[in-house]
This record gives sequence, C-alpha cells and structure tokens, in this order.
Amino acid sequence: MDSRGCRPLSAVHKVVDPSTEEIIQSVALASIEDTDAAIAKAHLAFDSWRRVAPADRGRLLRRFAEAVDGAIEELAQLEVANAGHTIGNARWEAGNVRDVLHYYAAAPERHTGQQIPVAGGIDLTFHEPLGVVGIIVPWNFPMPIAAWGFAPALAAGNTVVVKPAEVTPLTALRLGELALEAGIPEGVFTVLAGKGSVVGARFVSHRDIRKICFTGSTEVGKQIMAGCADQMKRVTLELGGKSANIVFADADLEAAAASAPAGVFDNAGQDCCARSRILVQEGVYDRFLELLEPAVRAVRVTHPAEESADMGPLISGAQRDRVASYVDDTVDVAFRGTAPEGAGYWFPPTVVLPGSRRDRVWREEVFGPVVAVLPFTDEADAIAAANDSDYGLSGSIWTRDVARALRVSRGVDAGNLSVNSHSSVRYSTPFGGFKQSGLGRELGPAALDSFSEVKNVFISTEGP
Ligand code: NAP
Ligand code: MG
Repeated sequence: MDSRGCRPLSAVHKVVDPSTEEIIQSVALASIEDTDAAIAKAHLAFDSWRRVAPADRGRLLRRFAEAVDGAIEELAQLEVANAGHTIGNARWEAGNVRDVLHYYAAAPERHTGQQIPVAGGIDLTFHEPLGVVGIIVPWNFPMPIAAWGFAPALAAGNTVVVKPAEVTPLTALRLGELALEAGIPEGVFTVLAGKGSVVGARFVSHRDIRKICFTGSTEVGKQIMAGCADQMKRVTLELGGKSANIVFADADLEAAAASAPAGVFDNAGQDCCARSRILVQEGVYDRFLELLEPAVRAVRVTHPAEESADMGPLISGAQRDRVASYVDDTVDVAFRGTAPEGAGYWFPPTVVLPGSRRDRVWREEVFGPVVAVLPFTDEADAIAAANDSDYGLSGSIWTRDVARALRVSRGVDAGNLSVNSHSSVRYSTPFGGFKQSGLGRELGPAALDSFSEVKNVFISTEGP
C-alpha cells in the first residue's frame, strides 16, 4: 500500500536472452502479499497432500514426470533463450527433471520406518512430512536444481513453493503449469517469480515454511542459515566451489587434457562443480599444457541453439564484468579459445597461470570460463593444495594407480569426487559440499529423510 492506500502496480522483470541481449518476455514479480497468499495455499494443501495414499502420490509424480517428458523440447528451447544454455545441455537438464521425478515417484511406498525391540511394548518410527518447503533456485541450472528439491520434497508428503532466480524464471514457471496439467492438486507445487530480497527473504521469515533449500552464493547462503536459526527452520545449502582437477604423472595425460575443458567450461563455467583449479604433477606439467591448448581452442563457443555448440554466453553483463575482473593485466594468460563478437555476453575459454596459491584467481569462485593451472610435487602436496580452500564441493583425480586414486579420494575434503572422469551429479547418488560449499546432501536414496522428521511411538503391551 502506498500513502494513498493504493496497492502498487506489480513490478515486472524483463527477461533478457543472453545470446542477443534482447528482451524476450516480461514476467510479473510476486510481492510480499502474493508470497504470503501462495504460502497460505500451500499450507492448506499440505493437510490433504500428506494424506494421499503413498501409491497415489507416486502415481501423480509419475504423471508429472510424463508431462515433463512430453515438454522436453519446449523446456530446452526456453532455457536456451533465457539462460544461454547449449541446446544439448538444456535437453539433458529437462530430461534430468523427468528422471528425478521418476526416481522419487518410487519413494513414497518405500520410505519405511523401523520397529525397534524394547521392553513392555512395541516401538515404531514414522517419517512425518515437514509442511511447506521453500526452494530458492539460482540462475545457473534453473531446472535441475529446482527438481532436486521439489521432487523428494513432494514425495515425502510436503507441499512446495519455488522461487526461481529473478533472471531465469521461464522454465520453472512452465514446470508449475505442467504439474497442474498432470493432476498435482492446486497449492501442492507453486512457482513464484520474484526477487530474492522479497520472495526469498519471505520464505525465510514465514513461520509456515518449515524448510529452505537454497542453492546460490556462499554469501547469501550464510544469511539464509542465520535467518533460519530464528525458527530452527530446517535448511539445506548448496553453495560455491573452487574444485581441483588433480593430474598425476602416471595418468592418461591425453585423456586428462582432452576432458579438462568440459570439466570447467561446461555451462560457460557457471557451475558450482567446475574444476577451476588444475593441479598437474611436476615432470608432466609442460606436456599437459601442450595437450590442453588445442583442447581449449577446440571448444566451440557459439549461439547455444546450434546443435554443435559446446558453450554459450554468460548469463548477464554484470556476470561478464565479474569474470573479466579475474583476468586483468596482472594475470598471466597462457592461452584462450574464441568467442563471438557483437551482441551477447560472450567470454572466451581462458587458461591462466597464477603466480602462487595465494592469487585471487586461484582462491575465489570465478563462475565463468576461466581455469587456473599450477604444478604440485607429490601426493601429499596435491592433497594439501586441493584442500587449501574455503570450499569443498567436488574434484577430479587422474591416475592409473587405483590405490593412489582411493588414498587421494579419501584425502580431499570435498563431497563429490570423480576418478578419471569429471562426473559429479547422478540423481541416484548423494550430492553436496564440505566446508563453505554447503550443508546437507541432496539426491540419492536418503533425500527423503531430509524432507521429513523421524517420530518415535511406543505402544505399551502391558495388560490392565
Ligand atoms: P545469489 O544472490 O546467491 O542468488 C541465488 C538465489 O537466491 C536467487 O534466487 C536469488 O534471488 C536468491 N536470493 C538473493 N538474495 C536473497 C536473500 N536475501 N534472501 C533469500 N533469497 C535470496 O547468487 P547471484 O547473485 O545470482 O550470483 C552471485 C555469485 O554467486 C555468482 O557469481 C557465483 O559466484 C555464485 N553462485 C553460485 C551458485 C552455485 O550453484 N554454487 C549459483 C549461483 C551463483 P534473485 O534472483 O532475485 O537475486
Ligand atoms: Mg545475488
């Protein structure tokens, strides 16, 4: 309300295509009142959704998955236009939403409690849903990150409100429609486009939101965690990363160098799992850089709708400025790939050689197509260098020695490691970070536990 008692016209966000810098759509931004109304609806819907029989909840989630499957191409095209994702990646992302829904559709019938031996009666545990779950999503992977929260949350019997990033609301809004078309009841799954400072902050302060799933910057993640403490609100945080790609002298160097660009430049480096620090063992360091150069120059940076695109633009001009600030005159650039000229937030794949492990480009999350390379001496030095970071999300280890692969995997403080590969995320395995990369885990068989409370009930069998 303004001073004359009028409700202000709702604010609008102009959605920009990062490949062309053109406005493609306007989206109304939810106000505090809109947010409260959506949470009230979700709170009301919780009462009936939690009582939907497990098999029926599973059936509805499978129908939601089928609806997403029927819209893969439409969702993918929306993501190409809104986020500049390559068409290949965008199809995978929409398919990932379908797969995550299918995976958790099986969960309601399998989320069993325990019967624990006790004296004087029987003891049972139940998994009770939490209530309304608020999911706050960043712009780098709008579809999968939303689904990793909402699919297990819904399966566990919670209702969900989702806030996409202000700049990338289109696919989430479409997923909200598809859920309704699939028969998910009104109020069970609601998408609210809006600002973090308005809608996101309201999720944190509202008493009827019982859990927050937040993915984004470590800085905002800390504010969310502090805000949740006030009501002891449950919270899962997936934050930044500065992951190490450790290449030992005994590795298949050709394979390690050929795959390193995809390990860091996928999604234009706007990936919390980006292997943005490459550590190469002395002795093969020069050879590795020789092999890396053609691989980086071969990365095809072009309009993301082209089937052959490996990399598209950055999300915004502000993000491009931020990324460019890490490649100023003081930084030694080894070599770069190419990027289109003209409109669009383009930035070429860039390999830098920092002066030391103290350099800003070695320590901070760039969130763009910039990778730093440094040598290490031996196994202990590799582990120490990898762990010399506030972050601990993912990482890769390249070696032909299985025992070393296991030793180093156990030694690196990170939640998601891959050996002779850069794969971090599978919906059937747990995902999350050590240290300032986050709190809690998403995905995998245990995800339903983090969307429910364990209740213990003792029933006396003593006679009168
Ligand atoms: P961000 O501010 O952390 O935004 C992530 C999400 O949180 C967005 O939906 C945002 O809404 C919302 N949000 C912002 N402030 C909030 C608040 N006070 N309360 C509740 N929700 C809030 O990230 P960003 O500004 O988009 O990106 C900045 C940097 O963060 C990047 O350059 C990158 O380094 C890092 N980042 C990391 C990840 C990751 O996956 N680890 C993802 C994104 C960004 P709005 O869209 O309205 O701001
Ligand atoms: Mg922000």
